[in-house]
Amino acid sequence: MVYKEYGNTGIKVSAVGFGGMRFDEDDIRSGRLEKCAEIPLYAFENGINYWDTAPFYCEDKSESVIGIALSQVPRGKVYVTSKTNFGTIGKGSNPTKEDFRARLEKSLKRLKTDYVDFYHMWCMMSLESWKKHMEALYGFFEEAQKDGLIKNIVFSSHMQGDEITEVVNTGKFKGMLIGYNALNYRFRQSGIKAAYENGMGVVVMNPLGGGMIPQNQESFAYLAEGTQLSVPQAALRFVASHREITVALAGCTTKAHVDDAVKAVENLEILPVDDVIAKFEGKGISLNDLCTGCGYCKGCPMDIPIPKFMDSYNQKILTGKDDAIDERMFMHWDIIPSVAATCIECANCEAQCTQHLPIIERLREIGEHKDPA
Ligand code: SF4
Ligand code: SF4
Repeated sequence: MVYKEYGNTGIKVSAVGFGGMRFDEDDIRSGRLEKCAEIPLYAFENGINYWDTAPFYCEDKSESVIGIALSQVPRGKVYVTSKTNFGTIGKGSNPTKEDFRARLEKSLKRLKTDYVDFYHMWCMMSLESWKKHMEALYGFFEEAQKDGLIKNIVFSSHMQGDEITEVVNTGKFKGMLIGYNALNYRFRQSGIKAAYENGMGVVVMNPLGGGMIPQNQESFAYLAEGTQLSVPQAALRFVASHREITVALAGCTTKAHVDDAVKAVENLEILPVDDVIAKFEGKGISLNDLCTGCGYCKGCPMDIPIPKFMDSYNQKILTGKDDAIDERMFMHWDIIPSVAATCIECANCEAQCTQHLPIIERLREIGEHKDPA
């Protein structure tokens, strides 16, 4: 296993981490948590020392499974995470510090430990939401850290590169968890560079594009060219090979998934992000209709977040399913079709689009979708 320094913390973590969000559904439903715990334990035997979990994962059982496994290994040998935000409290946007403390204590009890190594301000969808969480929550994080309940304050986000950079530049976080993969790397490249330059750790979720890469292997075959790896393994390796990325999380249901993840980083060559991208740039020729997230279509007079809408449209192209657009808009980006419908068709964005995409036509189509209730 390859290990990397987690930012400037002095902690060494495995280049692939265990993502605790994909335990076997039948085992979870039947309460066979000990059996589920065998998977992170197997990962540990194979050198994986970063375990990611959160409330609500796997029907709210993931933390308990991780706790069972954590109690069977030397505590200092594994770095474990958890997460919180307004949504984990269930009191709208007015929870108190005491509410957050109670939530953290619940996570610690489930994890069978006295502290969490990396505690996330979870799922910051936009700068606006992040600012609200900072006001309500950051003081709680600092107190919990002072009391030894959390070791490192980190955040997780679905924001774009420039927004991530703004959060990074506050210097308030030791690291971050973001979605990054061969499909969306342009959306967040500047963010990972900024984090690396600021001495932060960068953990990547969703290295397989939410299943998009395994489901469209022909489009991503270029990642595995010249290797003995499968396309999903090569996609994981693509992420792990970035110098700026500390850990690539692999969601594992079985021991075979752990073996796949370990194989993906064998003899890993670690390169600066620009070199990694240069190796693959232009090879994904079948992806010409996709928005790459380059962000050149800035300055929309209606403030439409064009790359987020175009990324949502990508999902339709890749899956062939219209409702994949909605899923992406609502679950990932937190944007709604009625905003797309405000386009005045000035065509500024199309003139700047590096992919020459029919943005107006796509926004018109998205604008006809229904906003969530
Ligand atoms: S065409 Fe629409 S989306 Fe593009 S810049 Fe003009 S108003 Fe914005
Ligand atoms: S310029 Fe085109 S490819 Fe780039 S983010 Fe905007 S829509 Fe996507």
